[in-house]
Amino acid sequence: MSPSPVHAQGVDSAHDCRILRAPWVVPVSSPVVQDGAVVVNRNRILAVGPFCELSPHYPDLPLTSCQGVLLPGLVNGHIHLDLSVMGTVQPDSPDSSMCDWIQKLLQRREAAKVSQEEIETAAEKTICDQYASGVGLMLDIGNIGLQRRDCKPVEILSLLEMLAPSQAAQRAVIDIISDFSSDFPVTGHAPYSTGPNLLKFIKKRCRQQETIFSLHLAENIDEALLLGKGEGCFAKFLQERGGLDGTFPVAGIDSRGVVGYLENLGILDDKTLCVHCVHIDDREIQVLAGTGTHVCLCPGSNRFLGVGTAPLEKILAAGILPALGTDSIASNPVLDLWQEMSILAQEHHRVDPATILAMATLGGAKALHRETDLGALAPGRRARFLHVEGREYEKAEDADQLLQRLISCGRPESISWIGDE
Ligand SMILES: [Zn+2]
Repeated sequence: MSPSPVHAQGVDSAHDCRILRAPWVVPVSSPVVQDGAVVVNRNRILAVGPFCELSPHYPDLPLTSCQGVLLPGLVNGHIHLDLSVMGTVQPDSPDSSMCDWIQKLLQRREAAKVSQEEIETAAEKTICDQYASGVGLMLDIGNIGLQRRDCKPVEILSLLEMLAPSQAAQRAVIDIISDFSSDFPVTGHAPYSTGPNLLKFIKKRCRQQETIFSLHLAENIDEALLLGKGEGCFAKFLQERGGLDGTFPVAGIDSRGVVGYLENLGILDDKTLCVHCVHIDDREIQVLAGTGTHVCLCPGSNRFLGVGTAPLEKILAAGILPALGTDSIASNPVLDLWQEMSILAQEHHRVDPATILAMATLGGAKALHRETDLGALAPGRRARFLHVEGREYEKAEDADQLLQRLISCGRPESISWIGDE
């Protein structure tokens, strides 16, 4: 059965419009269309469907023939652009802990003494490569403010990440944030590094600003050990730096673990994005789903640091469509969402390829509350999307094979942006 075309209502089809025809159209929010078409005006998508069904409705429109696959732009739900200058930080050995790696990263950052200009040049290079890979929107978590440049071809939502584990440090950071202009976007780092009072303060501020609050969550098993028992590598890490002052372990933490702790703090809602979510159990997943909290997985970084694999099947079964993120070059030598999709395909071979592609597009758009513009090819969405080409796609015999190849073959041979020509 061929999918029916989907049209926008009440649109003047003759003005600034064109019809794009391609062997494959992958709308993500509706089934794949073979010999499909997308009708656009200068800004918006007007219709999506089989070419033979759409073309009679738009007989006078200029036709653009594409040779590959039309699909939505990718959304990178988690990156740290200011770490681009650091390069990849290799763990010293397979046995070293995540704390050892964090320490190495901090030492390297201290020793490098790079200038703001070098940081921004490296970040700009990463942005250009993300754009070339098909990323149209990203959530950037930074420790320093990067200068905003209007020429950036990628839409970037940047949040300044605040850390303070001890009581005194939390109070000091709250004072610092209070001096920022009220619309300057700030977020927390992780439950092990950003204490509860500071987390509550920042989340309250995000609610007032109606902005996204993003937090690393359960990347490593030692986070739950610190919060539950005051043990593990993070406890040692904080103790060595004078940051363990009774904030951890958290009194009364229950079997809902770290996620329950965040719920008790009032942190979880549909504008909170929890990143990594490797060490969460069934009850914690239910809490995330019940509060509408968004999730972003970073499988490439998790594999590089050897911290484990997120329970994707269980997260999906709870009704959460996660976003996908590369994380930074420090913990992921290849910042490429096509590679992230192929890692997911290897690690979760029972997950439908269409779902993995939806994570890299619609999942990110939903998490960043941009799904009315991005994440799918559908009437009303922005007329800015991808045309990808490759021999693997040309040889695909059906939609299932095409989707399998899109998510498992890595970055396409050719990627171009419709709407940016
Ligand atoms: Zn991160």
